Amino acid sequence: MDTQLLIGSAFEAGQEAREQILNPRTGGLILEVPEASTAQVDRAVAAARKAFETWSRTTPAERAAALLRIADRVEAEADAFAALEALNCGKPINAARNDEIPAIVDCYRFFAGAVRCQHGAVAGEYLAGHTSMIRRDPIGVVASIAPWNYPLMMMAWKLGPAIGGGNTVVFKPSEQTPLTALKMARILAEELPEGVVSIVAGRGQTVGNYLINHPQVDMISLTGDVATGKKMLDAAAKTVKRTHLELGGKAPVIVFDDADVAEVVDGLRAFGYYNAGQDCTAACRIYAGKKVYDRLVADLTSAVSTIALGNEDDSTNEIGPLISLRQRDRVASFVNRAREVNHIEITTGGEVMDQGFYYRPTVIAGAKQEDEIVRREVFGPVVSITPFSDVDTAVQWANDSDYGLASSVWTKDVGRAMATAARLRYGCTWINTHFMLTNEMPHGGLKQSGYGKDMSAYALEDYTVVRHVMIKHG
Ligand code: NAD
Repeated sequence: MDTQLLIGSAFEAGQEAREQILNPRTGGLILEVPEASTAQVDRAVAAARKAFETWSRTTPAERAAALLRIADRVEAEADAFAALEALNCGKPINAARNDEIPAIVDCYRFFAGAVRCQHGAVAGEYLAGHTSMIRRDPIGVVASIAPWNYPLMMMAWKLGPAIGGGNTVVFKPSEQTPLTALKMARILAEELPEGVVSIVAGRGQTVGNYLINHPQVDMISLTGDVATGKKMLDAAAKTVKRTHLELGGKAPVIVFDDADVAEVVDGLRAFGYYNAGQDCTAACRIYAGKKVYDRLVADLTSAVSTIALGNEDDSTNEIGPLISLRQRDRVASFVNRAREVNHIEITTGGEVMDQGFYYRPTVIAGAKQEDEIVRREVFGPVVSITPFSDVDTAVQWANDSDYGLASSVWTKDVGRAMATAARLRYGCTWINTHFMLTNEMPHGGLKQSGYGKDMSAYALEDYTVVRHVMIKHG
């Protein structure tokens, strides 16, 4: 396994504390990865600065070719990448191999195409005797900071538009899940010029904090917690860096009385618990019409109690454990506090398992809008259901959240679906589904879920800047 950092074109061991990388299935040690020193981060940023001079002047076709080569390399090693991601994150191998890797490969290919198809405003004479034109240029050196829930995919979401747009990047994976990023370092070193991407491993409060405060960094891109996002903004203020923040979520799901309950149950079983609920778009906060509420609670409870996890034959597992003991205990404490509330009933799950960092898929019925379990992001396999009596209340409750990333509406009435979707203050609203992403469409939030879009042509806009060039005639 690769444990070396990529600094410019050099592979070197981190010079600071050794971080233990654990197997979430067992809690056992996989290996240790030493984190980067400040001197190593300095050299990575300096290499990015230097590389920017030439990389920013490459043609879109040249950058597209590099992205396509990276996509091909990941695809060629799909099994190895999937196995490593499954090992480090505890993901079922089928999810890593069949869901994530193809989407990651497609992400690099999408940005290879998108960077060659950008459109601009018309040039013209807006001042007599002068011609104005609009350019779209790269921003500079990007500090990219990724979370642990989809390590390789978040890397693709960040690198695709950043290097496609002509920027250079110093990338820091989560200290808990650096293994696939360190494997990617070999590919990136072979397919990109020196310094276009460097990889530094380490903790947020040490390596991450030093990187985001670096005066030679022009932009910070974070996927992570809201509290971490606020630290990025503080750091950015010092030298007025641009920021691209994808923070948490608490997705509301409005189920109207006319919805197809069987489809809703299938959807929630999948989209509420995928990746053990460690997903900022997870369908975790259900508002159900009074007529469907009882049936939905009963059917979802029996469906969720059949979710396969913790089996020795991993090919039969649908979800994995949580990433860490800390995360598992955090999830358990949310559920234990909910259990103490009189009107709440835990209809299935609600307990830790005695292996690794597993937590049983949980349904919480009878929750009210003001309850902690409805308001706070749990980031685990826990779904709450709250009954509502009219559409205005459902919309008001759905919007009554600090988060604003994803939402869904379930009904057979297309007019009601569209009218409700229009009132929701979320970066995405799905109708009669949830969770579906495609590289052509943007992903990003409102409110404290952050701003800035991942995926799609909008991401390329976020990683580039509009400039005006004016030519005086004669
Ligand atoms: P986190 O914020 O603790 O860590 C994210 C990254 O930030 C890690 O690499 C970490 O080392 C780094 N970091 C932490 N403190 C830092 C600091 N002071 N300076 C610089 N870097 C620092 O989040 P996490 O626990 O890894 O991930 C889970 C969170 O991410 C959840 O809240 C989840 O909702 C959110 N998330 C959001 C999206 C999205 O697209 N909106 C996607 C995935 C995860």
